[in-house]
Amino acid sequence: MTDLQRVAVIGGGVMGNGIAQLSAMKGHDVRLVDVSQERLDSALASIGTSLDRFVKSGKLDAGDRADVLDRLRTTTSVADAVSDVDLVVEAVLERLDVKQAVLAEVVAHAPVAAVLGTNTSQLSITAIASALGDEAHRVVGMHFFNPAVLMRLVELVVGLETSPETLARAEAYAASLGKETVVCRKDSPGFLTSRFSAILRMEALHMLEEGLATPEDIDKAVKLAFNHPMGPLELGDFNGLDTYLDALTGLHAAHGERFRPPVELKNMVAAGRLGRKSGRGFYDHS
Ligand code: NAD
Repeated sequence: MTDLQRVAVIGGGVMGNGIAQLSAMKGHDVRLVDVSQERLDSALASIGTSLDRFVKSGKLDAGDRADVLDRLRTTTSVADAVSDVDLVVEAVLERLDVKQAVLAEVVAHAPVAAVLGTNTSQLSITAIASALGDEAHRVVGMHFFNPAVLMRLVELVVGLETSPETLARAEAYAASLGKETVVCRKDSPGFLTSRFSAILRMEALHMLEEGLATPEDIDKAVKLAFNHPMGPLELGDFNGLDTYLDALTGLHAAHGERFRPPVELKNMVAAGRLGRKSGRGFYDHS
């Protein structure tokens, strides 16, 4: 692992703190960056709670917990975090201009050999990398899944300029985290996984619209017949129906009719039924 020992994670939210935690658990020296000390403290608190769960379940020695935290440094300075790193994972909010600005700052301060992974859910890797001119070959999509410490897959996405060496090093980093990888060899909206999940959720919505079954039975059918841990409607509520509608709208624009957002979903979002975060979605969460 010597080649990829030092890792910076930019953005310490839901995904970034999980990626930073897992990297430290697997022996990397990690620098976690966010915009304020408050955000970093909150990321560290989440990491602490998660590590406690690992210790409680016997998957982590209590002594190793301290070593994991020792390997994890936090800072609000991108320049400071990336000055000597081998790889960066960007996990800031899902906006092209923000991701481009963050990676431009990274490139200005990181060693020229550092790989630049972006944990976008659906933005174009090529568009993100386009802000970096000649350095675009160092950018690769590294799509983790929530919770990043537990989910088995990292979906790697090759942009138009991504070099084979960048892809190979991203694969090596994912392997060092104990992840399986799949490679989406063309930069295409929704990559592989977001297209699958969108289709499954859309069919669930059409079934609801057709009055075929209750939300509970639609979710139960998927969970028990296909061994999914959550049903598509439960997952929609968990991630937010507004986020889901945004994703479908993007896929519809890119791939056409098969991703047209169902009217029922548009109505629910318009009514403020966004799932868990608003207290009501397909299910009542109040
Ligand atoms: P989040 O809102 O929980 O976290 C984003 C963090 O980035 C925040 O803490 C914010 O303060 C920080 N940030 C914003 N601008 C920054 C900057 N300029 N420099 C440093 N930090 C900055 O979001 P999230 O759910 O962790 O998502 C992050 C990325 O991962 C997004 O691109 C998202 O699409 C993608 N993603 C999310 C999921 C998921 O299930 N949540 C899954 C896969 C991929």
